[in-house]
Amino acid sequence: MRDAPGVTLLSGETVVAQDVSGSGVTVTLASGRQLSAGLLVGCDGRGSGVATRAGIKRVGWRYGQTALVTAVWHERDHGGVAQQFFMPSGPLAILPLKGGHHSSIVWSESAEVAEAIQALPDDAYLEALRPRFGDFLGEIALAGARFTYPLSLSLAERFIAPRVALVGDAAHGVHPIAGQGLNLGLRDVAALAEVLILARRRGEEPGAPVALEEYQRWRRFDATSLALGMDVVNRVFSTDNPLLRLGRDLGMGLVSSMPGLRRGFIRQAAGLTGELPKLLAGKPI
Ligand SMILES: Cc1cc2nc3c(=O)[nH]c(=O)nc-3n(C[C@H](O)[C@H](O)[C@H](O)COP(=O)(O)OP(=O)(O)OC[C@H]3O[C@@H](n4cnc5c(N)ncnc54)[C@H](O)[C@@H]3O)c2cc1C
Repeated sequence: MRDAPGVTLLSGETVVAQDVSGSGVTVTLASGRQLSAGLLVGCDGRGSGVATRAGIKRVGWRYGQTALVTAVWHERDHGGVAQQFFMPSGPLAILPLKGGHHSSIVWSESAEVAEAIQALPDDAYLEALRPRFGDFLGEIALAGARFTYPLSLSLAERFIAPRVALVGDAAHGVHPIAGQGLNLGLRDVAALAEVLILARRRGEEPGAPVALEEYQRWRRFDATSLALGMDVVNRVFSTDNPLLRLGRDLGMGLVSSMPGLRRGFIRQAAGLTGELPKLLAGKPI
């Protein structure tokens, strides 16, 4: 990307303003520099200034959960396998890192409990983690800085505006329970590239309304349905309601016993279902 022809990478710059005219869009950087193009792609995260400046509103809600994130060293090799444990207060995901003996954790707790855990010194934090983590990887130790992220759902009401398209979390911030945030963003980028290239072949310029509408039609349903699906999964898995737990356990048992259904879920989690953009299917556009 850095070396792609026609690409100039500016780092350490912040976009502070954008101005759309009939023929293009101009952004102003904090340094005062201005850049103009036919289309502005907002990939500036769930607090997207591009979306706000384009008048795109957001809908969503907080989960009352906060994710504690850090890296952990463990005695046994993780074998490249990710684990997720579901607890009433929220899931604990253990995600393998390079080398076999380190994993990153995304440990969701109610906001108050997470705040209290984050305030603990390292040894007490580790003691709180240990019973949740279990001993399947042997001894554990903290191996990285500790962060917290309040969890929320944040969906842009529209993914496009004149001369503007939103991708990634700028369009849809979802619960991390199924690790789908990055997948969704990659699908947006691949779909937008495909739509724009096909539009150019038809003789349309980047930012043409027809192409942007096509992008929105393609991506908004997929992203919104997945975001709401993750919302339901979180509610069903982060509960100690006995009825919901029974329904969930029966459902999980059913999925495990039906290989076809299980493969379907695995394909969904890997982002391989729905109308896959060509780039994600490994095909040229
Ligand atoms: C705790 C947690 C765990 C997660 N776990 C997973 C997981 O396991 N798997 C997964 O797929 N996803 C996961 N996600 C989601 C994933 O992190 C996001 O979906 C992904 O980072 C979104 O990428 P993005 O580029 O759209 O936005 P971001 O990563 O938010 O990047 C936006 C960028 O825009 C920049 N920016 C913002 N404003 C401006 C401005 N005015 N000018 C210039 N630059 C600006 C920011 O500095 C930032 O670099 C997790 C999220 C959380 C919170």
